Amino acid sequence: MVGTEEATSNNLKNTTPNETMRVPSSDKVINLDQGDPTVYEEYWQRMGDKCTVVISGSQSLSYFAKSKSICWFLESALEDSIRQLHRTVGNASADDHYIVVGTGSTQLIMASLYALCPPDRVQPTHVVAATPYYSCYPEIGSFMRSTLYEWAGDAKTYKGEGPFVEFVTFPNNPDGEMREVAVKGTTEGKLVHDLAYYWPQYTPINVCANHDIMLFTLSKCTGHAGSRIGWALVKDEVVARKMIKFMEVTTIGVSKEAQIRAAKILEVVTESCPSLGPENFFQHSRLIMADRWKRLREVVKEMEFFSLLDYPKSYCNFANVYSTTQPAFAWMKSDENKIKDLEKHLKGEKILTRNGNRFGTESNYVRISMLSTNEDFNIFLERMLAMKETMEAVQYNGI
Ligand code: PMP
Repeated sequence: MVGTEEATSNNLKNTTPNETMRVPSSDKVINLDQGDPTVYEEYWQRMGDKCTVVISGSQSLSYFAKSKSICWFLESALEDSIRQLHRTVGNASADDHYIVVGTGSTQLIMASLYALCPPDRVQPTHVVAATPYYSCYPEIGSFMRSTLYEWAGDAKTYKGEGPFVEFVTFPNNPDGEMREVAVKGTTEGKLVHDLAYYWPQYTPINVCANHDIMLFTLSKCTGHAGSRIGWALVKDEVVARKMIKFMEVTTIGVSKEAQIRAAKILEVVTESCPSLGPENFFQHSRLIMADRWKRLREVVKEMEFFSLLDYPKSYCNFANVYSTTQPAFAWMKSDENKIKDLEKHLKGEKILTRNGNRFGTESNYVRISMLSTNEDFNIFLERMLAMKETMEAVQYNGI
């Protein structure tokens, strides 16, 4: 079965806290398949009660939110904290966009397809993204067998006629590249910019994005994937209203409790930004990602069997430093195709990753989550180094 990005799959069995305590690290299955953002747990533990919200039994009974927004279920506290955070980070121009809140940005991907695909066409509108693309786009594009839209694969080779929707992921999942529109030579396309990872811990913030539809998610911004809150910044009122209609028909809005919690978390993150110390959320997370990437690169270099992409340095207007992209995922390749199915190989070492074929490329690539707990990340690096010896032995025997 093809699992969705974060949930399903029997891998979850291997990572419950109780089991973690019992299983010796040599036997533990390390799940780096999903991008489960547990790396942030330690920061939030340190923050103690700062984000605690109390919700009484008499609160949030209504379907409706007390809000002036056209998004009738959007809590005004969440709207304010989203706008404030974008102003502080400078990653997207939120003030001239409508905000649509969703149950994760996954629901907003679906809502944007509903809003952008004309209902009166005989043929479904094509949905494309450049390879390697986020593995959920083809799943979402084909899951409902919709007559509105259908998944049509790689945007780089797309030659279809008529309207289409292209997802532009910036920085890209799985490979961290800073993507531009890939379908060239036509104006028939509508664009959805998926900016789930356009935050300072993953990449320098050097442009204030200002696209027609921009998707963000709490999961990858602060690590609160379980709250299932995402938001879309939408320029056009008609499109925003269609997206709101989709939310209305599918789930009659979005949990108020989750929104209230998300509002508080985003407020705390914004308030932490002026600080120069480890309480600054983005500064703290940026340093962790930098450290993990440094250590992974050292191990991969030492091993000589695999390679990772290099990313150029640029200036981050938010952090006021030159740095490279340090993506939430490592996109690792088996050099010279020595290992044809790298996911299978790593699974043999009890390291779960996601096969390149799920992203529209070859199986000598895997996507590895960089967002696991410290313990799992350390075991992963240790196992990679231990693998070097077995791989060298196999190579020697093979001569
Ligand atoms: N877009 C991209 C590029 C993602 O990687 C993810 C999460 N993996 C999502 C959207 C959806 O995130 P969520 O549903 O957790 O908000």
